[in-house]
Amino acid sequence: MNLTARDIDRVLTAIDEATEEMVDFTVAMLRIPTVNPPGDAYEDCARLIGARLGECDFAVDYPVADTRPEHTAMHPRMNVVGLRRGRTDRPLVHLNGHFDVVPAGAGWTMDPFGGVVKDGRIYGRGSSDMKAGITAAIYAAEAIRRVGIPLVGSVEISGTVDEESGGFAGMAYLAQQGRLSADRTDAVIITEPTDTDRVYIGHRGVYWFEVTTRGRIAHGSMPFLGVNAIEHMGVILDRMRRELMPVLGARTTAIPVQPPGARHATLNINGIAGGQSVDGIQTPCVADLCRAIFDRRFLVEEGFDATRAEIVELLERAARETPDLLYELQDLMIVHPVQTPDGASVVSALDHGAQHVLGRPLLKAASPGTYDHKHVDRIAGVPNCVAYGPGILNLAHQPDEYCTVADLVQSTKVLALAVLELTGTN
Ligand SMILES: [Zn+2]
Repeated sequence: MNLTARDIDRVLTAIDEATEEMVDFTVAMLRIPTVNPPGDAYEDCARLIGARLGECDFAVDYPVADTRPEHTAMHPRMNVVGLRRGRTDRPLVHLNGHFDVVPAGAGWTMDPFGGVVKDGRIYGRGSSDMKAGITAAIYAAEAIRRVGIPLVGSVEISGTVDEESGGFAGMAYLAQQGRLSADRTDAVIITEPTDTDRVYIGHRGVYWFEVTTRGRIAHGSMPFLGVNAIEHMGVILDRMRRELMPVLGARTTAIPVQPPGARHATLNINGIAGGQSVDGIQTPCVADLCRAIFDRRFLVEEGFDATRAEIVELLERAARETPDLLYELQDLMIVHPVQTPDGASVVSALDHGAQHVLGRPLLKAASPGTYDHKHVDRIAGVPNCVAYGPGILNLAHQPDEYCTVADLVQSTKVLALAVLELTGTN
C-alpha cells in the first residue's frame, strides 16, 4: 500500500466532516420501525439504504429471499447489496449490517422510533444493534471516494434482514445465492456493536430446544385423578436449576468471550406455556400439556453432541424418578461455535486502523451471542470474517438503546483504514 500519512489524514478528516450526514442517515433508518418479529417495513429500509449507496456510487440491487417461508406479501424479506468496483474485482471486501431490530419492549423514556439525538447520543431501537453500523460501513467507503483515493480491489456493502431471528432470509440467503462466497469474497466485516475498541473473532454455540410434558386431563377439584403436565415441567425446571446450571456455570472457555460472564456455558428458559391460556376464561382442569423453549449456549470445548446428551440425560433421569412424567424433546436450532483463524488479514487490517485512530490494537473477543458470522463461515466458506462496529453491545435489546456520535465516527475511521488496507490502493 503506497498510501501516505497525508492520504490517511484526508480520509479521517472527510469522516469528521461527514459527521452530521452520518447522524442524519442513522436517524432516518431509526425512524423506520423494522421490527422483527414480524419483519416490518423491510422494503422501506432496504430502499433507503440502497438510495444512499447509489448516491455513493455503488451499483445497487435488492435480493429478495422469496424462497423462504418467512417471506410473505405483507412482510417481504428484501435485502440490499451495493458493489463499488475498484480497478479489479478482487480483493473484495464485504461490509454487512442487519437492519432488522428487536421489538422496543417496555421501559423507554423516549420514542424508540423517534430518532432522538441528545447529548452526543443517537437514541432508538436498533441504534447500537445495528443501524449505526450500517452508516459506518457506508461512510467508511464513501470517505475514501470523497478524497479520491482509487482502490485496487472492490467494496461491497449489504444491508440484510432477519439477523435477530437467525439470518436465514438475510446473510444465509446471500451466501446460498453465491453473493457471498469464497469464489468472490475475500474478507467480511459485520459492523455489529463491539464497543469501538474490540473485535469479535467468533461466538459460542447455540442449542435451542423445546421440551413438552404431557399429562392427563381431569377435573380441577380432583387433581389426583389426572396428571398435571405443568407440575412435571416444574420438576424438569427445578432439576435444571439445581443440578445443571451450577455445572454449566463452572465450565469456562479458553476463548476470550466478552463480557467475562459469558465465558461460561449458560442456559436460559426462553418461554413457557401450559394448561389454559391465562388471558382466557378458566374452567377447572388439570393441565395436560406444557411446553417450554430453552436456549443453551455452549462452549467450543463442550461441543454439540455432549451438550445435547447432557440434556437428554437430565430429562431421562427426571422421567425415571417421577411417576407418570412423559416428555418429548425437539431440537429447534443448532449453531456450532465459530472462530476466525489466527493471522486473518481482516483482524490485522482492523488492528492497524485502530492503532492509528485509537492509539492501540483492538481487544480480541468472542461474542456471547451468535450473529451472521456463522453463515459467512459455514455457507459462504469465507473464514476471514469478524464483527467490528460502533455501539455498545450491552445496550443491545435494552430500553433507551443508544449509540454515541463519537463511537460512530471512531469506528467509521477504523473501518475506512481497514478497507484501504484490505482492498489495496493504486
Ligand atoms: Zn445485531
